[in-house]
Amino acid sequence: MQNLWNDEKASALKTDLEFRVYTSNLLGASDELVLHGGGNTSVKSVVDGEDILFVKGSGWDLVSIKEQGFAPVKLEVLKQMAKLETLSDSDMVSQQKAAMIDKTAPNPSVEAILHAIIPYKFVDHTHSDAVVTISNCVNGIENIKKVFPNFLIIPYVMPGFILAQKIYEMSKDIDFNTIDGIILHNHGIFTFDDDAKASYTKMIDAVTKAEEFLNENADIQIEKFMPRVEVDLQELQEILSNEKGSEVSLKVNQSPLALHYASQRDLKSFATRGVLTPEHIIRTKREPLILEDNNIQKAIDKYKQNYIEYFKKFAKDEVMLNPSPNWIVVKNYGTITIGKNEKEANIIDDITTHTMKAVLQADKLGGYESISLKNSFEMEYWELEQAKLKK
Ligand SMILES: [Zn+2]
Repeated sequence: MQNLWNDEKASALKTDLEFRVYTSNLLGASDELVLHGGGNTSVKSVVDGEDILFVKGSGWDLVSIKEQGFAPVKLEVLKQMAKLETLSDSDMVSQQKAAMIDKTAPNPSVEAILHAIIPYKFVDHTHSDAVVTISNCVNGIENIKKVFPNFLIIPYVMPGFILAQKIYEMSKDIDFNTIDGIILHNHGIFTFDDDAKASYTKMIDAVTKAEEFLNENADIQIEKFMPRVEVDLQELQEILSNEKGSEVSLKVNQSPLALHYASQRDLKSFATRGVLTPEHIIRTKREPLILEDNNIQKAIDKYKQNYIEYFKKFAKDEVMLNPSPNWIVVKNYGTITIGKNEKEANIIDDITTHTMKAVLQADKLGGYESISLKNSFEMEYWELEQAKLKK
């Protein structure tokens, strides 16, 4: 993977935050690292004699983030929060807000506490396709250990406070100097350094190692399939508008990858194995609808029935989201993503394109395996994730 650092451009940078914006934009420029609001970065700096963590604000994309996209939070307050035994989402949000030195800045990323406890100036976090592909496997942990022997490897836990607490516990007796970074199983990767270029370069180097591992062990051949069925898109759009209660925009994908994916045998078990990284779930839901014949309404009804069962199994006091699908794998045709507008349909198409490639590669490594149904539900219905969609 290409290192985009440019010495000439970097020579104009002076402040901590300028460096932070620059390498955040570089990370965001690679869609193999982060997609649409994914990932987060931070820098520890000093303002009026006080240590401040500038962490990505919720709702910003790394590729286009500017200085005002970073939330300035008192570092010591965040570090103390990591030591708490429990902390509700709403308390975390309000305490973080109270610790911001500029109340007009955006809400800090849900990973602010985690960034605070990593004792380095620059902290970079991405959902690298290559890293999560290796991780999202039946034997993912073993392979991750093989590729990243010097990384702290964290079994999957829910992002936010629980993850920060887990890393605080796991790292309190280790010397951060002895590890190259942190891998969050089924989720992503962290690198860090006191120097902006070094932290960014560590990310690129680590992801390159993961890509090399995949090239050697999970080489996929995209076969040439032609569409063998047609879909009545007007009928589909009408049915989905009715199901969603608003206009919908559809994006058809018949790229070689989408056709290859949609031409696999036993799609109902092949293509329904969960998300590439947890936060995708708020866009895609856990599974696509699998459409294998012309009876669209019947297939959607069945999908909704399954979704309602999944909801009832795990819900406590949540309100169910619309149970109809956000994307469809149409047998021998390709994929169709569903958004409330063209922009959203395109975002979901980007996410599912990356997911399809990862599933095919992970199957070469022994079988794709994402987070459990229960963890999927917790992420899908996490109020802090749902809040992102409202932005
Ligand atoms: Zn993440």
